[in-house]
Amino acid sequence: MSTPVRSPRSGSRIAIAGAGAAGLACALALARAGHAVTLIDAAAPGRGALWASAGMLAPGFETLFELDPGHPLADDFAALCARGGALWAAREAALAPGHARPGGLGPRRNDTDEARAGAALAGAARFDVAVERLSAHTLHAAEPALGVARGGLRFPTDGQIDNRALGEVWLQAFRAAGGEVIAHAPVRAVETHQGRASARALSDGRRVDADLIVLAAGTGVIDGAPALAQAAPVQGQMIAWGPPAPVALTHVVRHVSLYLAAKPDGRGIAGATSEPGQAGLETDADALAELSERAGRLVPALAGLRPDEAWAGLRPRARDGMPVIGEAAPGLILAGGGYRNGVLLAPVIADAIETLVRTGSTPAWARAFTPDRAGLRGG
Ligand SMILES: Cc1cc2nc3c(=O)[nH]c(=O)nc-3n(C[C@H](O)[C@H](O)[C@H](O)COP(=O)(O)OP(=O)(O)OC[C@H]3O[C@@H](n4cnc5c(N)ncnc54)[C@H](O)[C@@H]3O)c2cc1C
Repeated sequence: MSTPVRSPRSGSRIAIAGAGAAGLACALALARAGHAVTLIDAAAPGRGALWASAGMLAPGFETLFELDPGHPLADDFAALCARGGALWAAREAALAPGHARPGGLGPRRNDTDEARAGAALAGAARFDVAVERLSAHTLHAAEPALGVARGGLRFPTDGQIDNRALGEVWLQAFRAAGGEVIAHAPVRAVETHQGRASARALSDGRRVDADLIVLAAGTGVIDGAPALAQAAPVQGQMIAWGPPAPVALTHVVRHVSLYLAAKPDGRGIAGATSEPGQAGLETDADALAELSERAGRLVPALAGLRPDEAWAGLRPRARDGMPVIGEAAPGLILAGGGYRNGVLLAPVIADAIETLVRTGSTPAWARAFTPDRAGLRGG
């Protein structure tokens, strides 16, 4: 079955379930395009995975180190990430708090790192990712706080954002564009009737009628949503020092699954664990201690320093690990599956959904992520 192409709609009433990275970005794009948008969140807007994330915008590292090159959507995903990085860089500063693109650095410390770096460099041409090989001298000149390394890789397209400030900034811009916000009201269920959708049974008993519903609830569960809309939680735990950060890092530093960054709000952060199936937000002392220890091995000045903050968040992972962008049923649009890169991808997901609503179909570059794809089906 292929998704039927809808007729274009302008000036639609649109309800969005979930005010996280994807929901806020879609709400802003759709309100600015002239639609009457109601954004509904179960809790406080922007306080889900967007808030918990590291706020890295890392198309280079994520494509070359985290993407399975054998995945059927690997090339589409690499292109989507590159588009995301470029969109962030082009965005007005007012909508991208703390945005910086100093590049990502990946130190090479041992033979395993050398082998991984070799594989990454081999993938760079296929995925059209810019990457530079650095000597030990150049690496330490760029980031003097790093411990001993044989050299490193630099990803010039990678950067970061102040993800904790972002939610509030986008929310204010959305309100200024005429959008309505309903907070602390979980959408319990959605319904569609003859191409019309409605969000019903909000926790306060309200019902929101709309021409279209965008489901952007991360790992949230909503009755009436298609099963393929349900993303599984992959918990991530993180730690932070400061403010002020004990070490002034210029770049986002990546080593295997560990990353370190100095955030614009003055904290130094380290993350993250990756725990599929963990749906809670509790942190675990052993996992945090291991993060801390690994951070100290990478940046010796952090060794033995007690973190000032620890938290956990839930990455929404679709069945095939890829974003889900498009219409799943008449009037029901999905904007989810951001998984490891939902902050990086939020503006491109919003662009694709705005185009879908305006023209009746998603842009060519987003079509591989249709809810109709084979990777989302199966028992
Ligand atoms: C530790 C960690 C580090 C990360 N680091 C990065 C990174 O560096 N870069 C990057 O790009 N990505 C990163 N991510 C991933 C990124 O945070 C997510 O992919 C992204 O936030 C997903 O956006 P979302 O809008 O789908 O979900 P969220 O941002 O979680 O938003 C979902 C919203 O839906 C609401 N909701 C849930 N159920 C309902 C309901 N029934 N009704 C109404 N509202 C509901 C929630 O309250 C929440 O506000 C990280 C994630 C974690 C956990």
